[in-house]
Amino acid sequence: MDVDARVKELVELAWKKSPAFRRRMEEAGLTPHQIRGVDNLVLVPVLKKEELAHLQAQAPPFGGLLAVDVKELARIFVSPGPIFDPQGAVKDYWRRAQALEAAGFGPGDLVVNTFSYHLTPAGFMYDEGLRSLGVVVVPTGVGNREFQVEIITRLGITGFVGTPSFLAALLEVAREKGHGPGAFPLKKALLSAEPLPPSLRRMFQEEWGIDTYQCYGTADVGTIGFECFCKEGLHVARDMVVQICDPATGKPLPPGEVGEVVVTLLSHVCPLIRFATGDLSRFLEEPCPCGRWAAPRLAGFLGRVGDAVKVRGLFIHGHQVRALAGEFPWIKALRVVVEREGVRDTLALLVEGEGVAPGDLETLQRRAGDLFRLRIDTIELLEPGRLGQGKVLEDRRRWD
Ligand SMILES: [Zn+2]
Repeated sequence: MDVDARVKELVELAWKKSPAFRRRMEEAGLTPHQIRGVDNLVLVPVLKKEELAHLQAQAPPFGGLLAVDVKELARIFVSPGPIFDPQGAVKDYWRRAQALEAAGFGPGDLVVNTFSYHLTPAGFMYDEGLRSLGVVVVPTGVGNREFQVEIITRLGITGFVGTPSFLAALLEVAREKGHGPGAFPLKKALLSAEPLPPSLRRMFQEEWGIDTYQCYGTADVGTIGFECFCKEGLHVARDMVVQICDPATGKPLPPGEVGEVVVTLLSHVCPLIRFATGDLSRFLEEPCPCGRWAAPRLAGFLGRVGDAVKVRGLFIHGHQVRALAGEFPWIKALRVVVEREGVRDTLALLVEGEGVAPGDLETLQRRAGDLFRLRIDTIELLEPGRLGQGKVLEDRRRWD
């Protein structure tokens, strides 16, 4: 069945089975026969992620979004809010196997799953994907770094799934314990839930010989995108339609523009239609050399909607800061800090680097000024580890 036919079928199913969807359609004056395929999806108002907790509180437990009876589910997970996330009783419910397969996981692998198996679905997302590929899983969860290093070496673990920072922390312990890269069995990793800075990726590859791949998804809709061996952007996962939309209007943006990731999950368990994730990305226009032509690519996670600060009348977006950091291989972490002196906004760059050469800071300061079209007042080189990964914008202005 082609994707238009699947969208049409999904809308008809959700109209019958999901009261929350039916209400959203009726409030917009829509009936199912108006949604004949992907092109008509734009008519359906988006469902914002923030609305989930509210919907679920109004109509417990799933806010009228489920298309099956609660008793037919396999598991229920609980995110803060609380927001309940359903797992349908189907194999590899979150469709994570495709990401693992693209990262080279398969029969013969032994893998530590360092995501939590409690409350959040992350642990089971990977577990189900790995098992469906015939991989042996060691469910280690988070923490216990020394013990995990021992498990990896004693069992001859070949693969890791978890966050980039946890993999880095494990390797640090491994090094302290005297494990050299040559004798350490880990060879591949699928990483998610955090950005993977290019410098960290190089370290994993060059110092430890670990081939890393990235995967992007959410607790609500499962796998959204994953890297192929080209490692340039994330292919859109199967069983979903992804649109990049204007966060204010919900309308799709022209190709290449940064906007909100809006997902239509072609699931007959929980048919989330036009679900606005709050994440920013953009489509890459060139086809991928790997030949997966049918799966367009996203440029990865580029920040959250609202992840921007207004300085002297101009916006600085989180994705601009990340792109700036990506231009300079020596940068390990970068943050833009906005402060206020009297009535004037001041901009400072805090940067952590490795192998910083004379003139590098001045070049960065100039480039940042050009990119943001704002003067950068100060730049400061910090000891590694002060900034962490993740937060790239900090607004220290007080308005009271
Ligand atoms: Zn590809």
